[in-house]
Amino acid sequence: MMKIDSGLDIKQEPGHYTEKMPALFIGHGSPMNIILKNDFTRSLRELGRNLPEPQAIMVISAHWLTDGSYVTCMDKPRTIHDFYGFPEELYQVNYPSPGASNYAESAIKSTIKAKIECNKDWGLDHASWAVLKHMYPEADIPVFEMSLDYSFNDWHPKSLDYHYQLASELVGLREKGVLIIGSGNLVHNLQMIDYNIDAQPFDWALEFDEKVKFNLLRGNHEDLIHFENMGTAASYAIPTLDHYLPLIYVIALQGEDEPLKFTYEGFQHGSISMRGFQVG
Ligand code: ZN
Repeated sequence: MMKIDSGLDIKQEPGHYTEKMPALFIGHGSPMNIILKNDFTRSLRELGRNLPEPQAIMVISAHWLTDGSYVTCMDKPRTIHDFYGFPEELYQVNYPSPGASNYAESAIKSTIKAKIECNKDWGLDHASWAVLKHMYPEADIPVFEMSLDYSFNDWHPKSLDYHYQLASELVGLREKGVLIIGSGNLVHNLQMIDYNIDAQPFDWALEFDEKVKFNLLRGNHEDLIHFENMGTAASYAIPTLDHYLPLIYVIALQGEDEPLKFTYEGFQHGSISMRGFQVG
């Protein structure tokens, strides 16, 4: 047992938890969602109300790209405002949740093949808090983040198979009451963005989103890992891997015959899919 700074709460050592927590993929989209009240942000609020209460939350962030894999181990993660040129109001929002160093430690211990290390400098970037602010507005659940290993060998990033294997080793955290959230966007092309948030989605965006939906519903993980086989639409939808990778982590956490349901679908700015889903 360990006391956190307030002296009021007792943090339990991660132990066995009776209910296996679901895992989520959330398409976080524009930072404007932090202050907007729209169908997407309402869906997050609804989700937070309906899920079993987590002991802790781990967010795999599209906005924390590192050489190797890291988890945040601090007790009070800072709110990182990692976006530029947005209204001042967004920079005033903070998400002062407690950290979850004991659960981060559990994540580190759970992998055998891949090494995860402890980080004490990062905090919560907007892939975490822009979503959690709507799901858990009280900021009272301990949160830690996990980075994406974005190291390159001979100009090749680590394969998606590598990420899938690594993520599958984290499944035990779900039994410890950890809500795992992969936060990215499965279609994410900022070059082709339309400044109107409600713009009509591009044909290729609709096509790729539909193909991913099809493969998710059938549990075709291989096809999702090798997304490049999904035609030209895939190269427009995933110009860089960062926002797609969190989805790979979440499907790797799906047990055989475990149900999957969509928590939201839609687009922002014509080239960003907001589709989210829940396993378990
Ligand atoms: Zn993003």
